[in-house]
Amino acid sequence: MNDIPLKCRCGQVSGIATGLKQKNSNRAVCHCADCQAFARHLGGEALDHLGGTDLIQFSPARLSFSSGQDQVACLRLTDKGLFRWYARCCNTPIGNTMPTPALPFVGIIHSFFDLSDDEYVIIFGPVTGHVFTKAATGDPQEVSMLKKAGPGDWLKLVSLLLSWKMKGDSKRHAFFDSSTGKPIVTAHVLDNGQT
Ligand SMILES: [Zn+2]
Ligand SMILES: [Zn+2]
Repeated sequence: MNDIPLKCRCGQVSGIATGLKQKNSNRAVCHCADCQAFARHLGGEALDHLGGTDLIQFSPARLSFSSGQDQVACLRLTDKGLFRWYARCCNTPIGNTMPTPALPFVGIIHSFFDLSDDEYVIIFGPVTGHVFTKAATGDPQEVSMLKKAGPGDWLKLVSLLLSWKMKGDSKRHAFFDSSTGKPIVTAHVLDNGQT
C-alpha cells in the first residue's frame, strides 16, 4: 500500500515512491525566486497562481525509477545551488535535492506525481506551510493569508531528515550512485537563465 506512482507528462519517465504517506513526508509550498526560475525555465506550468511550487519532501530511499531514467536531467541555477531535477523528454519538473547525498531528502514536485489533485490532497493532506512567501506573486492580500511554515514545521522536517540519515538513506538515494556518491547525471549550471 501507499506505493505512489510517479510519471512525467509524456510518460517516458516513471517511478514509484514506496510506502510514502503523510506521516513520513512533509507537504510544503515554496515561493522562492529560485523555485520560480526553475519552473519558468521548464515552461511554468508547475507553478500555482501565487508563484508557489507544491512539493512533498521525503526520503530519497523511497524513490525508484521504473522507466526512462536516461531522460532524467539535472540543472542548477548557480554553481552553488540545489540540484533541480526534471524529465528532459517533456520538461516536466521532478524535484530538488541537496547537491550531495549526505543530506538525504528529496522534494518531489506535484507535477511528477501520477495522481489527480484530489488524490494528492487525500494522500498527503493539507500544506504544512508556505515558505519564502515574500517572493510570492499575485494578489498581496491572498499572499498575506497563506499559512506560513512555523518553527514546529521546521522541527518536524529536521527530525525526519535526521531519522533518514540515521537509517543510512544517503546510501540509498535515487539520484546518487550508492558507491561513488556522484549524481546519476551531471548537473549543468544555467547561465543567465539560458541553457
Ligand atoms: Zn516526459
Ligand atoms: Zn524554493
